[in-house]
Amino acid sequence: MTQFTDLGLAKPLLKALADEGYTEPTPIQAQAIPGVLSGRDLLGIAQTGTGKTAAFALPILHRLAENRKPAPRRSCRVLVLSPTRELATQIGESFKTYGKQIGVSVAVVFGGVKYGGQLRALAPGVDVLVATPGRLIDHLQEKTITLEGVETFVLDEADQMLDMGFIMPIRRIVKYLPKQRQNLFFSATMPSEIEKLTGEILNPNPLKVSVAPQATTVEKVNQRVLFVEQQRKRALLSELFDDASFKRVIVFTRTKRGADRVARGLEQVGVEAAAIHGDKSQGQRERALAQFKAGEVRALVATDIAARGIDIDAVSHVVQYELPNVPEAYVHRIGRTARAGADGSAVAFCADDERNLLKDIEKVTRQRIPAFDRRNDRQLGAATAALPDPGGRAERPAQAHRTDHRQKQNRNHSAPKGGHRHDGGPARVAGGGGGEQRPASGGQARPARSGGGGGYKGPRREGRSGVWSNH
Ligand code: AMP
Repeated sequence: MTQFTDLGLAKPLLKALADEGYTEPTPIQAQAIPGVLSGRDLLGIAQTGTGKTAAFALPILHRLAENRKPAPRRSCRVLVLSPTRELATQIGESFKTYGKQIGVSVAVVFGGVKYGGQLRALAPGVDVLVATPGRLIDHLQEKTITLEGVETFVLDEADQMLDMGFIMPIRRIVKYLPKQRQNLFFSATMPSEIEKLTGEILNPNPLKVSVAPQATTVEKVNQRVLFVEQQRKRALLSELFDDASFKRVIVFTRTKRGADRVARGLEQVGVEAAAIHGDKSQGQRERALAQFKAGEVRALVATDIAARGIDIDAVSHVVQYELPNVPEAYVHRIGRTARAGADGSAVAFCADDERNLLKDIEKVTRQRIPAFDRRNDRQLGAATAALPDPGGRAERPAQAHRTDHRQKQNRNHSAPKGGHRHDGGPARVAGGGGGEQRPASGGQARPARSGGGGGYKGPRREGRSGVWSNH
């Protein structure tokens, strides 16, 4: 097994890695670091969770340390482009963590905040600048920054940049870069538009490293789909949180308003929750993330873009309140759990009008996701009727009763036996069997599967502690 000490990294970096408790490089690190150290360009096909940030940060820091010189004024020696502010902040923090023994200067710039602090940070020049494309272009146009000093250019999450409409801004930024430079290009997937961009940015014959093809990450996550009526999703979500193993949960919604509504609904049933999405201020987003990381809120309700690249260890579950429109987003979402080699669990809710999305997801991920049918579930119906109105657009049918508003109970640290059940019976978790709950395939309690395609390997890791069943 390769160790970090085998990769030729400078001692201060090895010391910083040891302080973090990292001894073995992840596959992308083992494959990328020696080539990047030697100055080669890199095309990395990898998603977050594979250790890709350290795969570029470590060799970059090594090269900076080997060749110490001040960064030119209003410029930087390394430019990293990231699609979101959260990811930019995290990358900046990684550079600081790994580079703490070397003494590198790092600045992070993104939109939505004032310019003053960024101008002051950039004025003397920095070793590493991490930026989102929009704000960087503003600085370039204002001539508050130049890219003439860039020796290494990193483009992270290129496919996400494409989804967010950043391809043209990136082409503009590249024009400001010196012709002679090292390029490190990362993308989780390789749509044709991104492949074209690699040809424009990378020098000929880059080192190509592809790790954790989607199916590999997918296989590490214990997945379930629950068929449920749209208006009963709230009650089902609340039921999931009766299981104490749902400790640190990211809940994905398709829209910003949906995220707010779901977070409010959770709070109303006594589950501490915070929402993050593009309409929240930077301060609100940072606060929500910090609370979630500290375990002060059990649920972080997020839209895809806000959650992209967020690196939080020990996310116990990912819940998809709605299925995403693009199958790749399903893979990104479940990748929020199962970080850095750990296992994780993911539950997706699927209403009848989302069945086509599910089909696409199964096709792309080449798997059949074990499915359980919670439609027409009487208990869920009663629980739905008893839920208070979360505000915003109505989610429930008009005839639902609003009597029996339950008192807010603190369900955040231990799940009381029976929880909020009306019948006082044992709390049920999704897929646990019994009652009206039945597997979608009908008959015995086993996952639904449809033929063809292969790849389905049967239910994995059944019987893990209380995740899918509290029996
Ligand atoms: P990334 O793919 O860069 O988002 O990294 C995913 C997570 O893995 C982060 O929490 C890193 O701190 C962690 N990590 C990176 N490299 C290693 C390693 N060699 N050993 C253990 N954890 C790591």
